[in-house]
Amino acid sequence: MASDPKIPPFEADSLDKIAQYAADARATFASQKTKDIEWRLVQLRKLYWGITDYTPHLIAALKQDIGKPSLEALVGEVSYTIGDLQHIMKKLKTWAKDDTNLDFPLTYAPLRPRIRKEPLGAVLIIGAYNYPFMLSMCPLIGAISAGCTAILKPSESSPATAMVLKEIVGKYLDPNAFRVVNGAIPETQALLNEKWGKIMYTGNSNVARIISKKAAETLTPVTLELGGRNPAFVSKASNLPLAARRLLWGKSHNAGQVCMSQNYVCVQREVVDEFIKCLNAACKDFFPQGAKNSPDYGRIVNERTFDRIKGMLDKTNGKIVMGGETDRSNLYIAPTVVLVDSIGDPMMVDESFGPIWSIYPVDDVTEAIRVMNEVDPTPLSLMTFGSKAENEKVLSNVTSGGASMNDSYMHGCVYTLPFGGVGESGTGAYHGRASFDCFTHRRTVVATPGWMDKLLRVRYAPYLQSELKQYLWMHSQKPDFDRNGKKITGVGYWIWMLFGLGGPTVKSALLRWLAVLAAGYAYQTQFHRLSKFLA
Ligand code: NAD
Repeated sequence: MASDPKIPPFEADSLDKIAQYAADARATFASQKTKDIEWRLVQLRKLYWGITDYTPHLIAALKQDIGKPSLEALVGEVSYTIGDLQHIMKKLKTWAKDDTNLDFPLTYAPLRPRIRKEPLGAVLIIGAYNYPFMLSMCPLIGAISAGCTAILKPSESSPATAMVLKEIVGKYLDPNAFRVVNGAIPETQALLNEKWGKIMYTGNSNVARIISKKAAETLTPVTLELGGRNPAFVSKASNLPLAARRLLWGKSHNAGQVCMSQNYVCVQREVVDEFIKCLNAACKDFFPQGAKNSPDYGRIVNERTFDRIKGMLDKTNGKIVMGGETDRSNLYIAPTVVLVDSIGDPMMVDESFGPIWSIYPVDDVTEAIRVMNEVDPTPLSLMTFGSKAENEKVLSNVTSGGASMNDSYMHGCVYTLPFGGVGESGTGAYHGRASFDCFTHRRTVVATPGWMDKLLRVRYAPYLQSELKQYLWMHSQKPDFDRNGKKITGVGYWIWMLFGLGGPTVKSALLRWLAVLAAGYAYQTQFHRLSKFLA
């Protein structure tokens, strides 16, 4: 067991070797060995031990990269990933089975239609810096479970974790099937020049556009896990201290560098002052000596990102009502709340992806919904703290990748649930079953028995009108709705069903007729017994 958390300095892979690495991944996939479920399970089990053995390295690397407190590293990265991995290992055999629970007309039953789950091929996974372990490893687990080979390109902005990932993958997984390639833009571009079965990218939407364009050249499918300006709503009906505590957690965990955390909160005007008081009280509770002195508060990943976040605070026309301290020398930005009065304020326009966020006062839930749809109509997450009716209204009128009611991004904390964006915040999902599906092609398969040729005569030339009629009779579905699109109901329904060979399919109509005939037959044959009994 590796117990000395020594992390090698970051080293980019040689650009010259990237084409060969991709060719190796494709060749291993073509060898068919990854299709064996037991082989996949062995890889996943080895990975489990790799993550377990390297947990001290991961904790140290995450501290080094982003100042992540140990508890956050363990809970948000290592144990979350292990939870996902264990769930996938447990369910893999079931998920990988052919799917025969399909919808098809009874006439096609002899074809025994099924869906085979097939791996998409050699895939490319590009990770981001804020959860540099989990955001890279969970997609890789999905790819392994689906039977793909993979190259993982972690974020160069979290270089220590990238090197630990390289060690884990290199030491515990089949090197012909899985590899970590480290590097920045040139290495990523070299990888993008290769042909992949799928590209999965986590990061910002500008790079996502570059990747999508490149993928489009070879019609490569993509899964994009992006960000957005996530809204929250707090109404006067909410438990204000609880809402404050939960939303503050969302923006202080990982120093707010969480793609799902709120960018702004629409707070009902009459409780704005009280909510701000609650936030300040919660912040004092979390960090009694101040966040800067707390071992439980992380740092901004690098100076470029620090300058970007600080720039939002410099440019805002709003009023800082909590926090506000910054220190570039140790990449510290306090959990900070800015009260704004315009949706054009930089605090509303830009994604903070840091520990700063704004409060925008609204009259009611209707105004909150209007603001949310104007600021970003397809955010990654949505949080609402209101009455049941208000929460339902927000949920129905504002879309998002995922949503939590009465909490910050709790929907993203359950590692077995699908996680993904919508519109500008991404496409596709992963974690749990969704990770397996993400790298799987659902291949429809039928097997037509020889004896069916008699029934299939209709498809062969010379075409015969008589057979066509028979075919149409077998396959036509009588509509159970009229020409105005209304469902047929009441007496009309029964007339339609009994006399019009009604029902959604010919089969159901025939079954009904059979039932009617059987009842008639039983009545006729058993009538004398019944009358004797009654007499
Ligand atoms: P980042 O700087 O770590 O970049 C992400 C990846 O893109 C890296 O691997 C990097 O090498 C690669 N990259 C950068 N420029 C590239 C280029 N020109 N061509 C090809 N590849 C390139 O992270 P980031 O993009 O700054 O991440 C922040 C954004 O990601 C935010 O918008 C955040 O909301 C979003 N995010 C989303 C999720 C999610 O799961 N939906 C998770 C984390 C972050």
